[in-house]
Amino acid sequence: MKFGGTSVGSVAALRQVIGIAQKARSRNDEIVIVVSAMNGVTDLLLSSARRAEAGDADAAPRAHQEMLSRHTAVIEALVEGSGRREQVLAEINGLLNEFDTLCHSIRVLGELTPRALDVIAGMGERMSARQVAAVLDHHGMPSQSMDATQLVVTDNCYGSASPLMHLTAERCRSLISPLLAKGLIPVVTGFIGATEAGIPTTLGRGASDYSAAILAQALNAGEVWIWTDVNGVMTADPRLVPDAHTIPCLSYSEVGEMAYFGAKVLHPQAMRPARQIDIPIRILNTFEPDHSGTLISRNSELSDAAVKAITAIKDLSLITVEGAGMIGVPGVAARTFGAVAHTGANVLMISQSSSEQSICFVVPMRESAQVLAALEKEMIRELERRNIERIWSQNDIVIVAVVGAGMKGIPGISARIFGALGRRHINVIAIAQGSSEYNISLVIARSDADDAVRSIHDEFGLSNKSS
Ligand code: ADP
Ligand code: ASP
Ligand code: MG
Repeated sequence: MKFGGTSVGSVAALRQVIGIAQKARSRNDEIVIVVSAMNGVTDLLLSSARRAEAGDADAAPRAHQEMLSRHTAVIEALVEGSGRREQVLAEINGLLNEFDTLCHSIRVLGELTPRALDVIAGMGERMSARQVAAVLDHHGMPSQSMDATQLVVTDNCYGSASPLMHLTAERCRSLISPLLAKGLIPVVTGFIGATEAGIPTTLGRGASDYSAAILAQALNAGEVWIWTDVNGVMTADPRLVPDAHTIPCLSYSEVGEMAYFGAKVLHPQAMRPARQIDIPIRILNTFEPDHSGTLISRNSELSDAAVKAITAIKDLSLITVEGAGMIGVPGVAARTFGAVAHTGANVLMISQSSSEQSICFVVPMRESAQVLAALEKEMIRELERRNIERIWSQNDIVIVAVVGAGMKGIPGISARIFGALGRRHINVIAIAQGSSEYNISLVIARSDADDAVRSIHDEFGLSNKSS
């Protein structure tokens, strides 16, 4: 079971967590709990480190106070008995002192390395795991917190490390299985890992879901339950489309597409470890624990609806390389994407017109200037000879993705999407469809995005169904 930031973010939320764990214990389930930092804490840690790098001496002490008071409020409300309470407060104070020292060093040096940033970023999970273990312990469920730096072995790609599954599985079996055998609940930090040499890493923002799936694969778990603050995966982000409803069943591929294209409810990598050994994932609501939520499994692909969900991913740029001289010249695409790859930018979508007069692709907006510079350098001769006429970017665009495995082979879906957008006078800048036909993605202007999501949601009747 993984509990996200809101699910461990307040006294009220943690009371729900206690109830959920008690219910699992009463069914004699063997559970491993994975926790996120209290909501907002990771952002606070990252911004404090960046402020320290910029020479600000006040940000870290302010953040220290805020984190201390949030954790103290929970511990005072939910961990009684002076011994246990003092022990967990001492552990949290120890971590906060480490945070002070790190921020001080960063400020003195004026340098923040990706490696140091990962150490700081992961402190929220380390405080949270200790706190949740103490809370469960105090409520009759003997628990032990564990830092995933001991369990999840990763490469050294700081900020978005990948697990080395063999080593991770060995560690999990030797360190977690004995705790389960003793009847303890292991409470493991999400989000973090460490290299083989023991240097802390993080798996990427929002990656506690991924951590849960990694542990599940390593331990050959029966199921993964992701406890969050909504009733499962919905037909669209409920903050954007208030009448979105829960999708009861989804396939790994469908959720993969949705997560990739902006549905924040599940980390895009979380499906992979689960899918490899067919572990079902349930998305459940901590604040409405009896709601059945969403079941993600292999067989869910067989469900009927063609279009299941609409997602949007924002803050993107569309880069276009165009020129009549590109026609039929081999290697232009390879050189284009080679140059982009050197910048480290992530390409989210690619589209090329069949006349080959242009290639366009989407990257995060914060990387667009760097990508343009790299392309201009790579194509300098073609630009001089005017084989390539222009390399340009259109900023502040959004990809809207229409997802559903049942779209495969059904004609007319695109026509309905374009019809719905046309009636609202929304201009589509570019489109792409994967050959898997699980999704159709459209590039549109930021100002049209919310309206586009709502109108496609309506067009496919997703608003009126009951869950
Ligand atoms: P947690 O902290 O539990 O990991 P997140 O904030 O990462 O929670 O993810 C849950 C949020 O994802 C929801 O509050 C919701 O606003 C957002 N979200 C975006 N798209 C969807 C969707 N299609 N279905 C459900 N939630 C979505
Ligand atoms: N706390 C981390 C983040 O905010 C990981 C997570 O919550 O999944 O990105
Ligand atoms: Mg999340």
